[in-house]
Amino acid sequence: MSKNVLVVAEKRNGSLRNVSFEALAAAKEIAAGGKVTAVLFGQGDNVDANQLAQYGADQVYLITNEELNAYSTDAFSQAFTEVFQIVNPDAILLGHTALGRDLAPRVAARLGLGLVSDCTAIEVNGDEVVFVRPIYAGKAFQKKRVTDGIIFATIRSNNIAKGEPDAGRTADTIEYKATIKDIRTVIKDVVRKTAGTIDLTEAKIIVSGGRGVKSAEGFNPIKELADALGAAVGASRAACDAGYCDYSMQVGQTGKVVTPDLYIACGISGAVQHLAGMSNSKIIVAINKDPEAPIFKVADYGIVGDLFEVVPMLTEEFKKV
Ligand code: FAD
Repeated sequence: MSKNVLVVAEKRNGSLRNVSFEALAAAKEIAAGGKVTAVLFGQGDNVDANQLAQYGADQVYLITNEELNAYSTDAFSQAFTEVFQIVNPDAILLGHTALGRDLAPRVAARLGLGLVSDCTAIEVNGDEVVFVRPIYAGKAFQKKRVTDGIIFATIRSNNIAKGEPDAGRTADTIEYKATIKDIRTVIKDVVRKTAGTIDLTEAKIIVSGGRGVKSAEGFNPIKELADALGAAVGASRAACDAGYCDYSMQVGQTGKVVTPDLYIACGISGAVQHLAGMSNSKIIVAINKDPEAPIFKVADYGIVGDLFEVVPMLTEEFKKV
């Protein structure tokens, strides 16, 4: 049976996030011929609506209200509840982003729905929708089937293919002013702390440094390799704790969970808490001077050597390509 699926799209630094397109691809599969509605809270425009249409939205709600110009749980969950009542979806998908992780449980509790979070794959067999999600810090995968009520899930970035945009596709675009009241928090200013221009959680390539870089300056060769590859820069917690880099770069259990196509770990031992954030990367390359370092157990390619010799050599070679 076809389903009516609602996708909460998200913008970051003025552009729609990739994970929103990935959620639309998943939504199309779940909808099985039914309607896919995308919703964008605050600061959405017709350019965004067209892009969402090209990736599979049949209908786009651009929700306006000055309370939605910056994220707050209060305002977004109220606006979401309003849209939910209008669209009356059979399924809801969000990215498993900072916003999705905050908004989805709040809304699920408000609406009395179950929530399957951090899904990396979806299997649709007729009416049955099964979500695959990593558990035990990525050591095992759990399959969850929603047997009753509205399907509600968050999708981890870089796992579900977003497909090619269809330039000829259009969607009905509806501008809607949400009624938001009794807000308990006021966002006065948003100060962005970024790990670089490329968002770690959506990066296709990440070069990460650990305690082995030995200093803030030691991160320079890591950054140069990242530049040569068009990659984002990540770090272990030990590197952040030592003050070599900002915590926004931390990958791991208490940092960001990433799933790039290529993860290059430089001077990182491979502690279980770090692996929790990157072991699902498609290809892992480890550079470490200790041949016994646990990172080599999860690496597809390992280079035993001094990162200060190996990394600049790689940078030079990649610059030639
Ligand atoms: P180390 O373990 O000290 O490893 C440094 C590595 O660099 C060594 O393998 C060494 O051989 C190599 N090396 C040194 N010099 C060179 C060189 N010149 N060339 C090549 N290799 C060199 N950690 C995270 O990363 N992310 C998390 O989210 C996280 N969350 C945590 C949560 C909890 C509750 C706890 C208890 C810990 C957490 N940790 C986390 C910390 C984790 O346990 C490790 O301490 C940390 O990951 C180690 O970082 P590291 O590999 O950079 O440092």
